Amino acid sequence: MRVIVVHGGAGAADAEREARRRAGCLEAARRGWAILRQGGDAVEAVVEAVAALEDDPEFNAGLGAVLTRDGQVQLDAAVMRGWDRAAGAVAWVTRTRNPVRLARLLLDRETVLMVGPPADALAGEAGLPRVDPAALITPRQRERLATFLASRRVEEGGTVGAVARDSSGGLAAATSTGGRLGQRSGRVGDTPVIGAGTYADQRGAASATGTGEAFIRAVAAFRAVSALDHASPDDAATAALATVTEVGGRGGLIVVNARGEFGVAFTTAQMVHAWIREGEEGTGA
Ligand code: ASP
Repeated sequence: MRVIVVHGGAGAADAEREARRRAGCLEAARRGWAILRQGGDAVEAVVEAVAALEDDPEFNAGLGAVLTRDGQVQLDAAVMRGWDRAAGAVAWVTRTRNPVRLARLLLDRETVLMVGPPADALAGEAGLPRVDPAALITPRQRERLATFLASRRVEEGGTVGAVARDSSGGLAAATSTGGRLGQRSGRVGDTPVIGAGTYADQRGAASATGTGEAFIRAVAAFRAVSALDHASPDDAATAALATVTEVGGRGGLIVVNARGEFGVAFTTAQMVHAWIREGEEGTGA
C-alpha cells in the first residue's frame, strides 16, 4: 500500500499557527502523494514533500528557519533510501535553497555527509537553486531570536520530515531543519545524523524531531525502525521515544513499515503531521 506521512516539528503552537502548519503539512503530503500516484518512488516523494515545507516560512527548515545565537541560518538535512540503504546528508548549509535536494544528490555518490561551504558549492555545481543566506531569514525569526536572547526561553517546533512507501514496496525518509533556536554556531543536531534523526531500510523508514542531542544518543530513528521487527509502527515510535526520554530529551517520530502501516508518536505538546494513503488523507497535532 502506498502511503506518505509528513511532520512539521515537535513543539507547541497557538491555534492559528497550528492551523497553518496543518495546512502546510497536508499540502506537502499532497505534493509527495502526486509522485507516488504517478508511480514515482518513495525517495522522490519524500524529497518533494520536504522541499515544499522548506519553501514554507511557517516551518523551521529552509526559508524561515530558526537563527543561531549570532543571527545566522544554518541548515541541516538528510535523505535515506530503504531498499539499498543509500544515505545522503548535509549540515551547516547556508546558501542552498532546498538542503533536502542537496542531500538527495549524495544518495548516488560515495560521500554520505557533507558540511559547510563545500556542500553549498556542490549544490551550485549541480545547478540547484542557491540563495543569499540573508534571503532565508524572516522578520519573525529575527523577533524570536531577540526574545530568546532576552529571556533564555527555549522555544521548539518546525523541523520537517517525511516517510513514504511506494507501490513497489520501496521505503524512504527525509528530514530538514534549521536546528534549535539560538543554538551556538556550529552545533549540529540529529537531523543529518543517519540513524538518529533519519533512517530507512527494508523494514521501515523514520523521521524525527525534538532535542537533537538526545535523539543522537538514543539512535532514535534506527531504534524505531529496528523495533518494527516485533512491534507496530505506533509502538515502535513510542518505544524509541522512551529511550529519548531516558536520556533527557523530548520530541516526536513518524514511522512507516514495509506493509505501508504508519505510526506517529510525540512527547511534546504537539507534533503537527499529515498523511495520505489510497482514498484517505488527514492531519493531526
Ligand atoms: N531535532 C532538531 C535539532 O536538534 C530540532 C527540532 O526538531 O526541533 O537540530
